[in-house]
Amino acid sequence: MSAWICATCGHQHADTPVPPPACRICTDPRQWVRWEGQEWTTLEELRGEGHTVEIRPIEAGLIGLAIAPSRFIGQRALIVITPAGNVMWDCFGFIDATAVAAVTAIGGLAAVSASHPHFYGAMVEWARAFDAPIHLPEADARWVMRPDPSIAFYRDSAEPLPGVRLIRCGGHFPGSAVLHWPEGAAGRGVLLTGDTFTVVRDRSWVSVMWSYPNLIPLDTATVRRVGGAVAGLGFDRLYGGWWDSVIDHDATNAVARSIDRLAVMLSGAHDLEM
Ligand SMILES: [Zn+2]
Ligand SMILES: [Zn+2]
Repeated sequence: MSAWICATCGHQHADTPVPPPACRICTDPRQWVRWEGQEWTTLEELRGEGHTVEIRPIEAGLIGLAIAPSRFIGQRALIVITPAGNVMWDCFGFIDATAVAAVTAIGGLAAVSASHPHFYGAMVEWARAFDAPIHLPEADARWVMRPDPSIAFYRDSAEPLPGVRLIRCGGHFPGSAVLHWPEGAAGRGVLLTGDTFTVVRDRSWVSVMWSYPNLIPLDTATVRRVGGAVAGLGFDRLYGGWWDSVIDHDATNAVARSIDRLAVMLSGAHDLEM
């Protein structure tokens, strides 16, 4: 049997003799199926094609990881390194022995979590490699395509390790979450958001949408609620789901003014000349 990986989104599915007829993540209207139709791959095939894991230092106590050359939707995972252990935040559809050795050398993984199902990838493989639990919001349990005993569901918030908190915000998915790391950015605080708050091209702003690739907005009240879920958290820097998705400083204000801007536009109370 083979744990099939969707070639479009990188979500690894349960072991089956033949691939599933479709990827539920990609047939969901938040995502898309390639014009050529559904395609699947496997870890063995990706390794045979020469893929590796690129690991980059990001800041003190934080490294980034992604499959190289880039595949799927270009997801970038992060590992927060803390005195109590390391947390992997977000994932992509690949793992190899070299990457496991590199992560082992910095203390392994004590926990795994993700912002939302587009970033689940091969998280079960990573969790198994380090015998680490996966923490996911129960609101997105139906989007787990590879159930595993390592997965523990939380309701609204969880603290997988001291100094690291997961907070469910909703919006993009009911369980869309963030990771708050107060010790990050030299103690000014860091928020890891994946697509819960997506960093837009003007990197002093974020957006909150139901679908980013298909440009489907949320309603004003939901956008306000997503923003409210992180109000009061101390953070100066924000990392989204891709290498360049970073708001280096003043991220608390960037989120607040972005939520205000979205709410004004969505409510129709805007002045088009603004
Ligand atoms: Zn997919
Ligand atoms: Zn997404």
